[in-house]
Amino acid sequence: MVIMKTTTTYTKKILTILTVTAAVLSTATSGAETLIPNETGTHNGDYDYAPDTVSMPLNPSSTDIVVRAMGASGQEHINLLIGGAVVADWTLNNGFQEYTYSGKAAGDIQVQYDNDTYGRDVVLDWVYVNGETRQAEDMEYNTSTYGNGQCGGGSYSENMDCNGSIGFGNTDDCFSGNCSANGGNGGNNGQCNGYVGITFDDGPTSNTGTLINLLKQNNLKPVTWFVWGRRVSDNLSMVSRMQEVGEAQNHSYTHPHMTNYSYQQIIDELSRTSQIIQNAGAPAPTLYRPPYGEVNSTIRQAAQNLGMRLITWDVDSQDWNNASTSAIVDAANRLQNGQVILMHDGYRNTNNAIAQIARNLKAKGLCPGRIDPYSGKAVAP
Ligand SMILES: [Zn+2]
Repeated sequence: MVIMKTTTTYTKKILTILTVTAAVLSTATSGAETLIPNETGTHNGDYDYAPDTVSMPLNPSSTDIVVRAMGASGQEHINLLIGGAVVADWTLNNGFQEYTYSGKAAGDIQVQYDNDTYGRDVVLDWVYVNGETRQAEDMEYNTSTYGNGQCGGGSYSENMDCNGSIGFGNTDDCFSGNCSANGGNGGNNGQCNGYVGITFDDGPTSNTGTLINLLKQNNLKPVTWFVWGRRVSDNLSMVSRMQEVGEAQNHSYTHPHMTNYSYQQIIDELSRTSQIIQNAGAPAPTLYRPPYGEVNSTIRQAAQNLGMRLITWDVDSQDWNNASTSAIVDAANRLQNGQVILMHDGYRNTNNAIAQIARNLKAKGLCPGRIDPYSGKAVAP
């Protein structure tokens, strides 16, 4: 059920709690103010300013993961997922509290809210990981916002109004450049002149495991996978492996030509795919790539109504059309900041191009990015 729950009263309540929290905790602060979205929970330019709440956990080990969150009713339940598996879960209070996980799991971090109902909302302040604090509103995605009349319709925010997840990057990432635990992998911060969207369509296939290993070996990540729902249903466990190097997004269930489909037929293809991706443990897709790039207004409307941005590509590698490895590398060389390249999961020439694509991008200071569902452009992960 989708209900606008965050009232002005609730916003004031949050402000009060934040003020008290900031006063009580003896903390290191960033010196900046935290933006609290107004009652729509979306980025619409109308913000309340709250006192800074960048408190550090009291004595976290540099390998601890700490989640700072609060509920509205005190019954909200969240899970901490690492590498697609739940490693800890907590029922929240109706005031901010820090929840610590001290295990050794490594991989992509997600905080998932899973028992939304009337009167329940979560505010997720930050996650402490790899010796640094990652603010919720800075993170990879939030599929649990409520905006534009639907769950998932909001923008980046620390509010979790609906069931869904906020992604916080990999345990090894280092966003601040000052990481203490693993040294980080650099996170590419400070070395990126821009970001490009590396995409692979039509998986999972028998090639996916090989491709994932190549992407890891060459540090060409994150990538975006546009998967077939039917192929996911045949290989559910592959999705969590795909998430180790990127995001699984929607490329229809059976990959048909759809320009003559009815609205309802399109909805069926897309919604079944989004459902199976979530059944495999991944966040609800926020991007839809139409098979063959074939688009009309009905397809566009259906994707939008299911909370996804329709996206094609800026550069076609032509790997589907027997392009040679060097031709695929040349195509990737044409990428400019913010642009997206079309490649496929399942071609040897594509696999063989990965190492050189990674070297060429690095030489230009272009880093793989996430595709922003609001702009359709590649942005910092
Ligand atoms: Zn395709």
